[in-house]
Amino acid sequence: MSTTRRDELAAGLAATRERIVRACTSAGRDPDEITLIVVTKRFPAQDLITLAELGVHDVGENRHQEAEPKFAEAIHAGASITRHMIGQVQTNKAASVARYADVVHAVDRPRLVDALDRGLERVQRDIGVFVQVGLDSMPGRGGADAESLPELTAAVAGSSRMTLLGLMAVAPLDADPDEAFERLAGLWAAVRRDHPQAGWLSAGMSGDLEAAIRHGATHLRVGTAILGSRGPLR
Ligand SMILES: *Cc1c(COP(=O)(O)O)cnc(C)c1O
Repeated sequence: MSTTRRDELAAGLAATRERIVRACTSAGRDPDEITLIVVTKRFPAQDLITLAELGVHDVGENRHQEAEPKFAEAIHAGASITRHMIGQVQTNKAASVARYADVVHAVDRPRLVDALDRGLERVQRDIGVFVQVGLDSMPGRGGADAESLPELTAAVAGSSRMTLLGLMAVAPLDADPDEAFERLAGLWAAVRRDHPQAGWLSAGMSGDLEAAIRHGATHLRVGTAILGSRGPLR
Protein backbone atom coordinates (compact mmCIF):
# COMPACT_ATOMS: atom_id res chain seq x y z
CA MET A 1 0.00 0.00 0.00
CA SER A 2 1.11 3.53 -0.69
CA THR A 3 2.41 5.66 2.13
CA THR A 4 -0.39 8.03 1.16
CA ARG A 5 -3.06 5.70 2.53
CA ARG A 6 -1.09 5.26 5.74
CA ASP A 7 -0.85 9.04 6.08
CA GLU A 8 -4.57 9.40 5.41
CA LEU A 9 -5.44 6.89 8.10
CA ALA A 10 -2.99 8.46 10.55
CA ALA A 11 -4.50 11.90 9.91
CA GLY A 12 -8.08 10.62 10.31
CA LEU A 13 -7.11 8.91 13.54
CA ALA A 14 -5.37 11.97 14.93
CA ALA A 15 -8.32 14.22 14.10
CA THR A 16 -10.79 11.77 15.63
CA ARG A 17 -8.73 11.37 18.79
CA GLU A 18 -8.59 15.15 19.06
CA ARG A 19 -12.40 15.32 18.82
CA ILE A 20 -12.65 12.69 21.55
CA VAL A 21 -10.29 14.58 23.87
CA ARG A 22 -12.16 17.85 23.28
CA ALA A 23 -15.55 16.24 23.88
CA CYS A 24 -14.29 14.56 27.05
CA THR A 25 -12.85 17.82 28.32
CA SER A 26 -16.15 19.65 27.91
CA ALA A 27 -18.05 16.74 29.44
CA GLY A 28 -15.64 16.49 32.38
CA ARG A 29 -14.67 12.95 31.41
CA ASP A 30 -11.34 11.16 31.16
CA PRO A 31 -10.48 10.23 27.53
CA ASP A 32 -8.95 7.03 28.87
CA GLU A 33 -12.50 5.82 29.58
CA ILE A 34 -13.18 5.79 25.85
CA THR A 35 -12.43 2.92 23.49
CA LEU A 36 -12.31 3.87 19.83
CA ILE A 37 -13.47 1.04 17.57
CA VAL A 38 -12.49 1.75 13.98
CA VAL A 39 -15.17 0.51 11.58
CA THR A 40 -13.47 -0.92 8.49
CA LYS A 41 -16.52 -2.18 6.57
CA ARG A 42 -16.12 -2.00 2.78
CA PHE A 43 -12.41 -1.23 3.12
CA PRO A 44 -9.72 -3.83 2.44
CA ALA A 45 -7.91 -5.97 5.00
CA GLN A 46 -4.77 -3.96 4.28
CA ASP A 47 -6.40 -1.01 6.06
CA LEU A 48 -6.82 -3.14 9.21
CA ILE A 49 -3.17 -4.11 9.01
CA THR A 50 -2.09 -0.49 8.59
CA LEU A 51 -4.40 0.61 11.42
CA ALA A 52 -2.91 -2.03 13.72
CA GLU A 53 0.55 -0.65 12.88
CA LEU A 54 -0.81 2.78 13.86
CA GLY A 55 -1.90 1.43 17.23
CA VAL A 56 -5.56 0.59 16.56
CA HIS A 57 -6.46 -2.79 17.98
CA ASP A 58 -10.26 -2.54 18.15
CA VAL A 59 -11.85 -2.94 14.72
CA GLY A 60 -15.47 -3.36 13.72
CA GLU A 61 -17.31 -4.93 10.80
CA ASN A 62 -21.06 -5.10 10.21
CA ARG A 63 -21.53 -8.09 7.88
CA HIS A 64 -20.47 -11.66 8.58
CA GLN A 65 -19.60 -12.49 4.96
CA GLU A 66 -17.18 -9.60 4.82
CA ALA A 67 -15.92 -9.76 8.40
CA GLU A 68 -14.82 -13.38 8.52
CA PRO A 69 -12.26 -13.38 5.67
CA LYS A 70 -11.08 -9.83 6.38
CA PHE A 71 -10.37 -10.40 10.07
CA ALA A 72 -8.67 -13.69 9.18
CA GLU A 73 -6.45 -12.00 6.60
CA ALA A 74 -5.42 -9.25 9.02
CA ILE A 75 -4.60 -11.75 11.76
CA HIS A 76 -2.69 -13.93 9.32
CA ALA A 77 -0.61 -10.86 8.46
CA GLY A 78 0.24 -10.47 12.14
CA ALA A 79 -2.20 -7.73 13.16
CA SER A 80 -3.20 -7.98 16.81
CA ILE A 81 -6.91 -7.10 16.81
CA THR A 82 -10.05 -7.37 18.89
CA ARG A 83 -12.82 -8.27 16.44
CA HIS A 84 -16.08 -6.41 16.98
CA MET A 85 -19.20 -7.53 15.09
CA ILE A 86 -21.23 -4.32 15.17
CA GLY A 87 -23.98 -5.15 12.67
CA GLN A 88 -27.12 -7.24 12.67
CA VAL A 89 -26.46 -10.97 12.92
CA GLN A 90 -28.91 -13.34 11.26
CA THR A 91 -29.82 -16.21 13.54
CA ASN A 92 -28.52 -18.74 11.00
CA LYS A 93 -25.13 -16.97 10.92
CA ALA A 94 -24.75 -16.84 14.70
CA ALA A 95 -22.75 -20.05 14.99
CA SER A 96 -20.33 -18.80 12.32
CA VAL A 97 -19.90 -15.43 14.03
CA ALA A 98 -19.30 -17.28 17.32
CA ARG A 99 -16.18 -18.84 15.78
CA TYR A 100 -14.27 -15.58 15.42
CA ALA A 101 -15.94 -12.50 16.97
CA ASP A 102 -14.55 -11.25 20.28
CA VAL A 103 -17.42 -8.82 20.92
CA VAL A 104 -20.92 -8.80 19.40
CA HIS A 105 -22.75 -5.44 19.61
CA ALA A 106 -26.17 -6.00 18.08
CA VAL A 107 -27.76 -8.70 20.19
CA ASP A 108 -31.43 -7.78 20.16
CA ARG A 109 -33.53 -10.93 20.50
CA PRO A 110 -33.65 -14.08 22.63
CA ARG A 111 -33.29 -16.40 19.63
CA LEU A 112 -29.98 -14.78 18.74
CA VAL A 113 -28.76 -15.20 22.32
CA ASP A 114 -29.61 -18.91 22.13
CA ALA A 115 -28.00 -19.38 18.72
CA LEU A 116 -24.80 -17.59 19.76
CA ASP A 117 -24.67 -19.56 22.99
CA ARG A 118 -24.93 -22.88 21.15
CA GLY A 119 -22.29 -21.82 18.64
CA LEU A 120 -19.92 -20.68 21.39
CA GLU A 121 -20.41 -23.90 23.32
CA ARG A 122 -19.56 -25.92 20.21
CA VAL A 123 -16.23 -24.15 19.71
CA GLN A 124 -15.60 -23.53 23.43
CA ARG A 125 -15.19 -19.78 23.05
CA ASP A 126 -16.29 -16.82 25.20
CA ILE A 127 -17.37 -13.41 23.91
CA GLY A 128 -18.45 -10.03 25.20
CA VAL A 129 -21.97 -8.89 24.30
CA PHE A 130 -23.71 -5.55 24.00
CA VAL A 131 -27.50 -5.71 23.91
CA GLN A 132 -28.74 -3.37 21.20
CA VAL A 133 -31.69 -1.14 21.96
CA GLY A 134 -33.68 0.50 19.16
CA LEU A 135 -34.01 4.25 19.60
CA ASP A 136 -36.38 4.95 16.73
CA SER A 137 -39.62 3.60 15.43
CA MET A 138 -38.23 2.78 11.97
CA PRO A 139 -38.47 -0.97 11.45
CA GLY A 140 -35.52 -2.95 10.15
CA ARG A 141 -32.73 -0.98 11.76
CA GLY A 142 -32.37 -3.46 14.59
CA GLY A 143 -32.45 -3.08 18.31
CA ALA A 144 -34.74 -4.38 21.01
CA ASP A 145 -37.68 -2.48 22.49
CA ALA A 146 -36.95 -0.94 25.87
CA GLU A 147 -39.54 -3.26 27.44
CA SER A 148 -37.63 -6.37 26.41
CA LEU A 149 -34.28 -5.27 27.88
CA PRO A 150 -34.73 -7.01 31.27
CA GLU A 151 -35.39 -10.36 29.59
CA LEU A 152 -32.59 -9.98 27.04
CA THR A 153 -29.94 -8.77 29.45
CA ALA A 154 -30.84 -11.60 31.84
CA ALA A 155 -30.49 -14.14 29.02
CA VAL A 156 -27.03 -12.84 28.11
CA ALA A 157 -25.92 -12.62 31.74
CA GLY A 158 -27.16 -16.18 32.26
CA SER A 159 -24.95 -17.61 29.54
CA SER A 160 -21.65 -19.08 30.73
CA ARG A 161 -20.10 -18.19 27.37
CA MET A 162 -21.13 -14.52 27.23
CA THR A 163 -20.22 -11.53 29.33
CA LEU A 164 -22.85 -8.79 29.37
CA LEU A 165 -20.86 -5.63 28.66
CA GLY A 166 -23.70 -3.13 28.40
CA LEU A 167 -25.99 -1.51 25.85
CA MET A 168 -25.43 -0.47 22.26
CA ALA A 169 -27.45 1.86 20.05
CA VAL A 170 -27.45 3.76 16.79
CA ALA A 171 -28.92 7.27 16.85
CA PRO A 172 -32.09 7.69 14.77
CA LEU A 173 -31.51 9.06 11.27
CA ASP A 174 -33.58 12.20 11.51
CA ALA A 175 -33.78 13.07 15.18
CA ASP A 176 -31.60 14.91 17.64
CA PRO A 177 -28.84 12.53 18.77
CA ASP A 178 -28.66 14.24 22.16
CA GLU A 179 -32.28 13.37 22.87
CA ALA A 180 -31.80 9.80 21.69
CA PHE A 181 -28.61 9.27 23.70
CA GLU A 182 -30.18 10.82 26.78
CA ARG A 183 -32.92 8.21 26.60
CA LEU A 184 -30.26 5.54 26.03
CA ALA A 185 -28.39 6.66 29.15
CA GLY A 186 -31.57 6.22 31.20
CA LEU A 187 -32.11 2.70 29.84
CA TRP A 188 -28.47 1.85 30.53
CA ALA A 189 -28.78 3.06 34.14
CA ALA A 190 -31.80 0.78 34.59
CA VAL A 191 -29.87 -2.20 33.17
CA ARG A 192 -26.98 -1.52 35.57
CA ARG A 193 -29.31 -1.70 38.56
CA ASP A 194 -29.84 -5.38 37.75
CA HIS A 195 -26.39 -5.98 36.24
CA PRO A 196 -23.74 -3.73 37.82
CA GLN A 197 -21.09 -5.33 35.58
CA ALA A 198 -22.75 -3.94 32.43
CA GLY A 199 -20.55 -0.85 32.59
CA TRP A 200 -20.01 -0.17 28.91
CA LEU A 201 -22.07 1.85 26.45
CA SER A 202 -21.47 1.47 22.71
CA ALA A 203 -22.79 4.61 21.04
CA GLY A 204 -21.48 7.35 18.81
CA MET A 205 -20.31 7.28 15.20
CA SER A 206 -18.51 9.79 12.94
CA GLY A 207 -21.37 12.28 13.02
CA ASP A 208 -22.47 12.14 16.63
CA LEU A 209 -19.56 11.04 18.81
CA GLU A 210 -19.59 14.28 20.83
CA ALA A 211 -23.24 13.76 21.79
CA ALA A 212 -22.50 10.13 22.68
CA ILE A 213 -19.61 11.15 24.92
CA ARG A 214 -21.85 13.71 26.65
CA HIS A 215 -24.25 10.92 27.53
CA GLY A 216 -21.71 8.43 28.83
CA ALA A 217 -20.56 6.38 25.82
CA THR A 218 -17.51 4.24 26.57
CA HIS A 219 -17.18 2.68 23.11
CA LEU A 220 -17.35 4.70 19.89
CA ARG A 221 -17.76 3.06 16.48
CA VAL A 222 -16.15 5.35 13.93
CA GLY A 223 -15.69 4.62 10.23
CA THR A 224 -15.99 7.50 7.76
CA ALA A 225 -14.12 10.09 9.85
CA ILE A 226 -11.03 7.85 9.79
CA LEU A 227 -11.20 5.80 6.59
CA GLY A 228 -13.09 8.17 4.29
CA SER A 229 -16.31 7.61 2.37
CA ARG A 230 -17.33 4.05 1.75
CA GLY A 231 -17.99 2.62 -1.69
CA PRO A 232 -21.28 0.87 -2.43
CA LEU A 233 -22.07 -2.59 -1.05
CA ARG A 234 -20.64 -5.31 -3.25
C1 LIG B 1 -21.02 1.75 9.71
C2 LIG B 1 -21.35 1.73 11.14
C3 LIG B 1 -20.74 2.64 12.02
C4 LIG B 1 -19.74 3.70 11.58
O1 LIG B 1 -20.40 4.73 10.92
P1 LIG B 1 -19.62 6.05 10.43
O2 LIG B 1 -20.69 7.03 10.23
O3 LIG B 1 -18.93 5.66 9.16
O4 LIG B 1 -18.65 6.43 11.47
C5 LIG B 1 -21.09 2.56 13.35
N1 LIG B 1 -21.98 1.65 13.81
C6 LIG B 1 -22.58 0.77 13.00
C7 LIG B 1 -23.55 -0.21 13.57
C8 LIG B 1 -22.30 0.78 11.63
O5 LIG B 1 -22.90 -0.10 10.83
